[in-house]
Amino acid sequence: MKVGNTVAAYERSYAVEKEKDVQVSRYFGEDTFGVKVMMERLPKDVYRRVIEIIHEGRKLDLDTANAVAHAIKEWAIEKGATHYCHWFQPMTGATAEKHDSFIEFTDEGDIIERFSGKQLIQGEPDASSFPSGGLRSTFEARGYTAWDPTSPAFIIKSGLGTTLCIPTIFISYTGEALDKKTPLLRSIEAINRSALGLLRLLGNNEAKKVFATLGPEQEYFLIDQDYYYRRQDLVMSGRSLLGATPPKGQQLEDQYFGSIKERILSFMHDVEEELYKLGIPAKTRHNEVAPSQFEIAPIFEEANLAADHNQLVMETMKRIAPLHKLRLLLHEKPFAGINGSGKHLNWSLSDDKGNNMLNPGRTPHDNIQFLVFLMATIKAVHLHADLLRASVASAGNDHRLGANEAPPAIISIFLGEQLTRILDDIEKGKITKATDEAIIDLGVSKLPVLSKDSTDRNRTSPFAFTGNKFEFRAVGSSQSISFPATVLNTIVAESIDLIAAKIKSRGGNVNQAALDVIREEVKANKAILFMGDNYTREWEKEAARRGLPNKKTSAEALKDLKAEKALKLFEKYGVLTATELKSRYHIRLERYVKEIDIEAATLANMVQNQVIPAAVQYQGALGSSIRSAVDVLGDTKALKHQKDLLKTVSSLIGEAQKLTGELTERLAKSKSIESEEQKAAFFCDEIKGTMLAVRETVDTLEHYVDNELWPMPKYWEMLFIS
Ligand code: ADP
Ligand code: MG
Repeated sequence: MKVGNTVAAYERSYAVEKEKDVQVSRYFGEDTFGVKVMMERLPKDVYRRVIEIIHEGRKLDLDTANAVAHAIKEWAIEKGATHYCHWFQPMTGATAEKHDSFIEFTDEGDIIERFSGKQLIQGEPDASSFPSGGLRSTFEARGYTAWDPTSPAFIIKSGLGTTLCIPTIFISYTGEALDKKTPLLRSIEAINRSALGLLRLLGNNEAKKVFATLGPEQEYFLIDQDYYYRRQDLVMSGRSLLGATPPKGQQLEDQYFGSIKERILSFMHDVEEELYKLGIPAKTRHNEVAPSQFEIAPIFEEANLAADHNQLVMETMKRIAPLHKLRLLLHEKPFAGINGSGKHLNWSLSDDKGNNMLNPGRTPHDNIQFLVFLMATIKAVHLHADLLRASVASAGNDHRLGANEAPPAIISIFLGEQLTRILDDIEKGKITKATDEAIIDLGVSKLPVLSKDSTDRNRTSPFAFTGNKFEFRAVGSSQSISFPATVLNTIVAESIDLIAAKIKSRGGNVNQAALDVIREEVKANKAILFMGDNYTREWEKEAARRGLPNKKTSAEALKDLKAEKALKLFEKYGVLTATELKSRYHIRLERYVKEIDIEAATLANMVQNQVIPAAVQYQGALGSSIRSAVDVLGDTKALKHQKDLLKTVSSLIGEAQKLTGELTERLAKSKSIESEEQKAAFFCDEIKGTMLAVRETVDTLEHYVDNELWPMPKYWEMLFIS
């Protein structure tokens, strides 16, 4: 193919002389029905009730719903909306919407726009095609969506259409959660109950509410749209299944934080403008380590809102990219041999006054509180490392975890030097009395809040304490953050309760009791702490000695979701019933199989329909050229290397053909495996290996075949031309 032709085709899709941008603060959130608009548009008493519903969990009554619905409709129509939709997050991990227009006939037969409280509160998408993991049999296939007032409604403009989107949960008529939001909301309640209980025990009577905060750092790739369309693998599976490593990858380290190219920056600008209108506080943008890889990170928000917003960030980027003739790749490993994409999930707990529970405090009392919450998180991760691992398991993330760029499949915690020393001191009994002086001596209050200590640059750790929050780094770039957050909230709620119970049972001075329990817990949970390089073989061995789980593939890791321990935990905290959790296990396992199935079939197609024909053509050209040379020169020695080249090409073609045949056979065989679990194992152990063998052969062939004949854009083109 012609090299670089897309560059000429690319024209600026934006006016360079853009009108002077309006200040962000002037239009931030203008497309959301947020608190400010509500205050302006709702009668005072209705407004107050809504605020109580949002902040205090007050029940919603129909009168309030009607008043809100009317105000939302008026507002949305002024913004140009013709339709509304209940926006929800089925277990596919994406978001779903079914649009209805506002129009209705009056008794007189005229058309008017109407939107009732009932329509706001509840919708009934005919959503029987969403995966339910056996939760619904077809005769009761309907689920319904219900308004989530804690996340504001918003307007989406796409092309010529303008739609009012109402964030909703999605549940079955028997009350089972069919989505990702419902369990997240339940886990938010669970952590609130447990954390408030602990705060009261420690003598904090001020906080009224405790909630998780999330800040997801979203990584992604952008490539030229023309290249994208010429790669069946990218279109079908979001990652390249073939492609030889280019001479230059990321070894020069010249991409990370480098200056951002004009075309990319324009894309980022457009994305941010859209996000600001939606009230999403996009804060950071930069080049990532791999060529054509970037990151966007928001200011952290309350967990439910942050989860909705991250879905909108992914969708908005997907929508804006084609306007710049680019395509967004959210896959965890779009290109073999260079870094993949993750989503560092920053997590902490905050009270309604804005106090961060993981902030080392200034007073001895605050410090005890900090240490207890820190310890609870450590204990939670130790008890349920398997669940955290399972929460990020996917076919895509398998390519990334443990691939020497992302955290390994072993979950451990990195605390940094100072905190490690403090916990050491407590454990060794250097501080035994919880007097104010003693606790100040611990040095907790000297911990630099926010500014991370110098050892914090341990990028190899999957779960790191970074100043005043934990950073869960194993999350995949394309996945919804809802489930990892649900798991975190739930396991920490449990550990908070376990620790609180221990403190309570000791009686006496509560600070002293807390300190004693912390000492015990440091001893009991030390195994999960690891400050070294997570990429080494030694760590793998050491982790095994410590009894830490190391599930390398999703097929294996997902099983922990249906273990007795998990079922009991989620049920106890009212987050997921056993049936709901099992359904999630089935859906994720099925998805794992389907994704690899699609990849394998795509690979076979590409090799058969594109690679082999091109290589055969090259083989033909080589053959004829050698024959003509013999005609003219006679069979001289000089032709030996050309004949060798022909032999190499021929044998690679043969090998590619043979391996592709094997792949196709195995795929056919997989169809007859009935158990989903055996199927997953088969895809993991057999199909993936064969795909890799096919790839190696084809990638070698790519080195030999004429560039003009090679039927798809190569890595160096996709990664470096934009
Ligand atoms: P780095 O790349 O050094 O980890 P970034 O600034 O890219 O840091 O991202 C840090 C993320 O953590 C941001 O999204 C930030 O808002 C978020 N964050 C900061 N404090 C908290 C907190 N208390 N709870 C949750 N997330 C937080
Ligand atoms: Mg970052």
